[in-house]
Amino acid sequence: DETEELFTIEESLKELAQLADTAGLMVVDSTYQKLSTPNPRTYIGSGKVAEIKAAINAYGVETVIFDDELSPGQLRNLEKAFGGNVRVCDRTALILDIFDQRAATREASLQVALAQMEYQLPRLTKMWTHLERQSGGKVKGMGEKQIEVDKRILRTQIGVLRKDLESVRKHRKQYRTRRLSVPVPVVSLVGYTNAGKSTLLNQLTGADVLAEDRLFATLDPTTRRVQMKNGKEFLLTDTVGFIQKLPTTLVAAFRATLEEISESSLLVHVIDISHPLAEQQIDAVEKVLSELDASSIPKLMVWNKVDKASNPEEIKQKAKDLEDTICISALKGSGLDEFCNAVQEKLKVFALFVYILFI
Ligand code: GDP
Repeated sequence: DETEELFTIEESLKELAQLADTAGLMVVDSTYQKLSTPNPRTYIGSGKVAEIKAAINAYGVETVIFDDELSPGQLRNLEKAFGGNVRVCDRTALILDIFDQRAATREASLQVALAQMEYQLPRLTKMWTHLERQSGGKVKGMGEKQIEVDKRILRTQIGVLRKDLESVRKHRKQYRTRRLSVPVPVVSLVGYTNAGKSTLLNQLTGADVLAEDRLFATLDPTTRRVQMKNGKEFLLTDTVGFIQKLPTTLVAAFRATLEEISESSLLVHVIDISHPLAEQQIDAVEKVLSELDASSIPKLMVWNKVDKASNPEEIKQKAKDLEDTICISALKGSGLDEFCNAVQEKLKVFALFVYILFI
C-alpha cells in the first residue's frame, strides 16, 4: 500500500502507541521484525514469539497489539502462545475500541457496533475451539455446531443494526436536504487526526466541540454556522480525523458520515505543520479523499500550529508563496481573518453558481 510505505515502521509503531494511549492503555515496550513474508501461523517468527512472551512475563503485560491486521488463525495461535489472560489484538480492533469509547451520537454508536460485529464474525471460532480443547476433544463437533449457532445470532444482530442505522440515516438525510434548500455553502474541515480541526471550529464559532490532544477526539460530524464580518455565512462541518492504515472496513463504516464531505462546496484541509510527518499525513488524507471521490472539490490548505513550529517565519513565507495555502494558529487565534478571507474568496465561485441557479 502506497501510504503505508510513506511511514517507516518506527513511525507507524509510534502512532500505534499513541492510539493505545488514547484507548487508555499504558505502553511498556514495542518491537518489530523484518521478514520476507509474515509467518502464516503466528505472523511473527517463533523466536520473536518467545521474546515477546518473556517481555509479557517481565512486565505483567495484559495486551499485545499488532500494527497490521492479523488473520483469525494468527490471532488464535498468538493468544495460545502468549498464554493465559493475554489479549492479542490488531490496529483495527484498537481503533474500533477507541471509536466505541468516543461514539457520542446514536448513528456513531450504531456504526461502531456494526463494524465491531463484522470484525468479530470471522473470528468467532476462538472461544469454542478452546472449549473443545479443554474437554479433551470429547465434545468434538459440538463446538462447531455452537459456532454456527453463534454466527447465526450475530448475523441476525447485524441485520437489525443495519436497519436501525438506515432509519437514523434517513432522518439525517432529510435534515440535510432541508438544510441544502437554503443556499448557505457548506465548508468541511478535513485532516489527519489531531491536526486541530475541532480547535479551529471552536475558534471560529465559539462552539464547544471537544478538542483534545488525543487521536479521534471527533467522531461525529459537527456542523456550525459561521458568520463573517461582512455578514456572509457558511456552514462549517468538522469530520472524523483520518489516519494512515485506516482499515478499509472502518472507512466503509463511516462512509455515510463522510458523504457530507463529497457534498461540500469547499474543503478545508487542516494540517499540523509542526508535525515531523506533516507531508505523509497530507498524502494519507488526500488518499482517503480520492477514495471518497472528493478530489475535485475546491480546497484550501491550512497550515496549523505554526506557533509550535521551530521555524515559523520560514513556514509563513513558504505558505505565502503557495496558492490556496494559509498559515494559522488555531490555538492562539492568529491568521483567522486571513483564513476567513480566503474561504470567502473561494466561495465566491459558489455564490456565482447559486446565482446562476436562481436566475
Ligand atoms: P482534531 O483531531 O483535528 O480535531 O484536533 P484538535 O482540535 O482536537 O487538536 C488536537 C490538539 O492540538 C489539541 O491539544 C489542541 O489544543 C492542539 N492544537 C490545535 N491547534 C493548535 C495550534 O494552533 N497550536 C498548538 N500549539 N496546538 C494546537
